[in-house]
Amino acid sequence: MADYDVIIVGSGPAGIFAALELAKNEKIKTLILEKGPDVGKRSCAERLTGKCINCDPCRITSGWGGAGAFSDGKLTLSTEVGGWLGDYIGNQELASLISYVDDTYRQFGAPVEVHGTGDENIRQLQRQAVLADMRLVPMRVRHLGTDRCYDIIKLMKDRLESHIDIRAGVQVVNLLTEDGRVTGVQTAKGEEITGDYVVVGPGREGADWLNTEVRRLGLSPVSNEIDIGVRVEVPAVVMEPLTKELYEPKLIYNSRSFEDRVRTFCVCPYGVVASESTDGITTVNGHSYAGKKTENTNFALLVSTAFTEPFNEPIAYGKYIARLANLLGDGIIIQRLGDLMDGRRSTPERIARGTTVPTFTDATPGDLSFVLPYRYLSDIKEMLTALDKLAPGVNSRNTLLYGVEVKFYSSRLKLTSTLETEIENLYAIGDGAGVTRGLMQSSASGVVAARAILSSIAGRK
Ligand SMILES: Cc1cc2nc3c(=O)[nH]c(=O)nc-3n(C[C@H](O)[C@H](O)[C@H](O)COP(=O)(O)OP(=O)(O)OC[C@H]3O[C@@H](n4cnc5c(N)ncnc54)[C@H](O)[C@@H]3O)c2cc1C
Repeated sequence: MADYDVIIVGSGPAGIFAALELAKNEKIKTLILEKGPDVGKRSCAERLTGKCINCDPCRITSGWGGAGAFSDGKLTLSTEVGGWLGDYIGNQELASLISYVDDTYRQFGAPVEVHGTGDENIRQLQRQAVLADMRLVPMRVRHLGTDRCYDIIKLMKDRLESHIDIRAGVQVVNLLTEDGRVTGVQTAKGEEITGDYVVVGPGREGADWLNTEVRRLGLSPVSNEIDIGVRVEVPAVVMEPLTKELYEPKLIYNSRSFEDRVRTFCVCPYGVVASESTDGITTVNGHSYAGKKTENTNFALLVSTAFTEPFNEPIAYGKYIARLANLLGDGIIIQRLGDLMDGRRSTPERIARGTTVPTFTDATPGDLSFVLPYRYLSDIKEMLTALDKLAPGVNSRNTLLYGVEVKFYSSRLKLTSTLETEIENLYAIGDGAGVTRGLMQSSASGVVAARAILSSIAGRK
């Protein structure tokens, strides 16, 4: 008899929602293994002192709650964003799961307010976007905020603790299989834990590890796209025409020069720019707090690339560019848009002369044109020009660009409609499996796998 019915690898939103669903059946013995620290021990040096010390694993992306615990907590209530789960389960099922997951977040303290519901004004903005060669994807967003997000994830742990076993600081290194069926996991300390079902939800933090396991186990990866770009910071008033109506304006632009898809991502009104570190590589990100506001708004402009044969290493490519930025800037590079346009680097003096005061002070003033390929820079400049028509001032000389922001979407695995891999009883969920790229869909993917396991176990008896 196996030690556990179900072993979940990773306690991000995907793993937590799988566990919450499984816990509905008291008889099922579940274990969650998390390589990062427990929820109370996730202090980030950068947030305390302003200086990232490259913790391994990164306290922002690793630990109970995953990248979700410190995320901005924007729950996007739309099937159009946040991943590809709809490709597996269909959009109708996804819509119903979004509502189910949203209710669960509400039960744990998510606020009542939903942004992006003022329809007539949004239609006006959609019209303006079309005139500026962009598409505005209307979307309802429930904003938890980084601080509340953390509380909710802690409450979820409190609820789960009496139902399942939770072990933090335990890294899984091997998935154990026998005759095409999963039998358990092996930890970094060599401990073997057996389980009838294994659900892997390692997030972006564990995507490389999962890739290695996928190759070792002979599973079929499906190449995913990569998003590369910059984080833009402007005075909050500049973005208000958009952020007042839509908390998270999703704008998509097809670039003239390359016909690339450029999009806004993770808009943080009155927020702060932040860094994150994975595998020794520092990239830029942003967040906003529910209870504290800055004078600025930041957002990412990302260019999506799906590489074609023979190249099949989008993650390696993204890391290469991020490393180059780290090499030149000793971390994150900041540049005024005006300096970029004039073909010169930014210096501390030039940044200080600008009218936008950076919220992230640990970046090195430099020149992003040494880092980003011409294609990406052109795409980003074009999108800033288009965006300026909806939010005049975005394309100003004083706009700050931080680089680089890279979204590594792990290789997608070949999965069934219940997210089971080609190995029996082995399920792959969340961002690490390349199925999702946001809180809502990653949480929903956990529910999908857990429900399939519950019905498989029920069918066995
Ligand atoms: C700063 C920031 C802000 C964000 N803001 C938003 C937002 O506002 N809205 C939104 O929708 N999304 C946001 N995101 C993205 C969101 O947090 C992720 O999409 C989501 O957390 C993915 O969930 P997941 O469970 O798949 O993976 P993760 O949350 O990444 O969790 C995976 C967990 O698995 C653990 N793990 C990895 N490998 C192993 C292993 N081998 N053994 C044991 N444990 C392992 C990791 O330590 C990690 O804790 C943000 C992300 C960041 C970093």
